[in-house]
Amino acid sequence: MNSAYQQLLEKVYEIHDIEKAIQVLSWDKETNMPAAGNTARVQQMTTLRRLHHRLFASDEMGELIEAAATALNGASPDSNEARLIRYLRRSYADERKLPEEFVRRLSQVSGAAHPAWVQARAENNFALFRPHLEQVVALAQEMAELYGYEDEKYDPLLDKFEHGMKTAEVRAIFAAVKTELKPLLTAVTARANTIDDRFLHQQFPVAPQQEFARYAATAVGYDFSRGHLGTVVHPFATSFSRDDARITTRWNPDFLNAGLFGTLHESGHAMYEQGTAPDLARTPLARGTSSGIHESQSRMLENIVGRSRGFWQAHFPRLQALFPAQLSGVTADDFYRAVNKAQPTFIRVEADELTYNFHIILRFELEQAMLNGELAVADLPGAWRGKMQELLGVTPPTDTAGCLQDIHWTRPSFGYFPTYALGNLYAAQLYEAAIQQNPAIATDMAQGNPASLVSWLREKVHRHGRKYTPGELIIQATGQPLSHEPFRRYVTAKFGELYGLS
Ligand code: ZN
Repeated sequence: MNSAYQQLLEKVYEIHDIEKAIQVLSWDKETNMPAAGNTARVQQMTTLRRLHHRLFASDEMGELIEAAATALNGASPDSNEARLIRYLRRSYADERKLPEEFVRRLSQVSGAAHPAWVQARAENNFALFRPHLEQVVALAQEMAELYGYEDEKYDPLLDKFEHGMKTAEVRAIFAAVKTELKPLLTAVTARANTIDDRFLHQQFPVAPQQEFARYAATAVGYDFSRGHLGTVVHPFATSFSRDDARITTRWNPDFLNAGLFGTLHESGHAMYEQGTAPDLARTPLARGTSSGIHESQSRMLENIVGRSRGFWQAHFPRLQALFPAQLSGVTADDFYRAVNKAQPTFIRVEADELTYNFHIILRFELEQAMLNGELAVADLPGAWRGKMQELLGVTPPTDTAGCLQDIHWTRPSFGYFPTYALGNLYAAQLYEAAIQQNPAIATDMAQGNPASLVSWLREKVHRHGRKYTPGELIIQATGQPLSHEPFRRYVTAKFGELYGLS
């Protein structure tokens, strides 16, 4: 390999290792650290973030990238080398736009906002979080200006999570989702009582819940020899390398779904990271290409696999054996129907497949309003209740069940929320393509075995890491750009059958 590229790689490895060290500190902060450690931890992470920024945004880095690009002139545009250069040029240009002083403030503001949010949420007291959120919104506005934009202020923020996607495109897709799914949601809500899910709300001791969640995660293909399951308040997945991709879950002793489907969800994220090609290791290409494609993998495992009839016909007896009293007299089909009960509720992470996207549309609209200065932070709780009523026909009784429920606004990560709904749409589109390309996948899924689906995902999605943009990847895998149609077909068929609609 030529030496200019080798020199660039050495620098890339150094920057990558610092980034992963920040993630280890963050993982420890969320899982093990005593709350009193927060101030010191934020200082440690801020120092590393500044160091990371200084190395990455340096003049030297720019020279290394361009020297390697010149030396590689003539390499196949599809080679790992050419794709890495393309990615680095873009992210380097973005990094240069942020002054180090801004990076420091970002880290400090988020570091202080997190414990305030935890307390505000626990005490249902929005006033405690409000001044922090005001700072976060101001930082997001500042960040948009630093990155710059042509059309909308939201564009450069969205681009950090879903490269190449414009706010206007997301708005058009969401408008179609809203219009086309509303009649189905209304029909299903009218028949909500035809599915009984009361048995899911009982006392379920945590230890057997954990045992089953580990079993289910293994059944869908998560590799525990290269993974780890931790307990947290707000579940996430993180990876330090393809050989150490971790998941977290929160356990609810009164309700089975949170721990079980949360574990499957995070397994999907971690499996994406575990499946990246080894030759991308220690470079920024060794991770999921975008938040939306990442979310498609978690939603695929959580819903398309984990909430399928075949999966529960195969695995319900095992669950029932762990909870013989709670699940006595319940059949696999009763269980399948209960975990798919669709109805408007307050909490996004517990929402069913049909109502979930409406929770996202709400956040997408409110984020833009705050960013554009059309909605004052002080008015957020009321605006939230109004939008919930408009979109889902329910009003949360508290801010804890309303605008304080998510961790996301402790950081200026505006633009992240829409990728959750995009993930649902990508997942349905990928699944439809998978069973068209290999009909045996549908047969295997009907028997509760997702192995052939996971192999397809490894081949079409996981191994590529970030070599392709989300737009390129979805066309390569499915032959089409992103569309909401496969999702509409998927939920119409599934919920039509579940609720006896014709
Ligand atoms: Zn997720």
